[in-house]
Amino acid sequence: MKRYSKKALDKRKEERACLPEFFQRHIEISKTKSCANCGEKLKGEVSEIAHRLAKSTFKSIMCDDENVVYLGGRFSKCGCHSLYDGTNEQLQSLSIFSTEKEIIKELLEKVTEEINYKLYDRWQL
Ligand SMILES: [Zn+2]
Repeated sequence: MKRYSKKALDKRKEERACLPEFFQRHIEISKTKSCANCGEKLKGEVSEIAHRLAKSTFKSIMCDDENVVYLGGRFSKCGCHSLYDGTNEQLQSLSIFSTEKEIIKELLEKVTEEINYKLYDRWQL
C-alpha cells in the first residue's frame, strides 16, 4: 500500500474539504432530476453526481457547481455515469456529447491545471 506523509495527507484533506457539502448540495438537487443523457428518473444518490472534468486531475474546479452533470448511477438501469467516465467511444456515443463538449470548453478556460492532449482527443477539441 502506498504511504503518505502527514503533510501530504493534510494537504489532500484540505483540498477535499469542500466535497462533503458539494455532494450533499447536488444530491438534494438530483432528487428532482432525471438523467441528463437518457431521462431516467434519478434517486438522489451520490453516484448520480458526475464530475465533467475529473476531480482528481482538476482540483481547481473540484467543487465548482458548473463541473457537475446528473447521470444515472449505481442504482439506475441506464448506467450513463459509467459511460460518461468510460472509454472515449462510450463518452462520444452519448446523446449529450456535443452539448457537454461546449460546457467542457468553458470549464477548461477556468482550470489552473495543465491540460493533457488526451483530454482534447476525448472531447474532440
Ligand atoms: Zn441515463
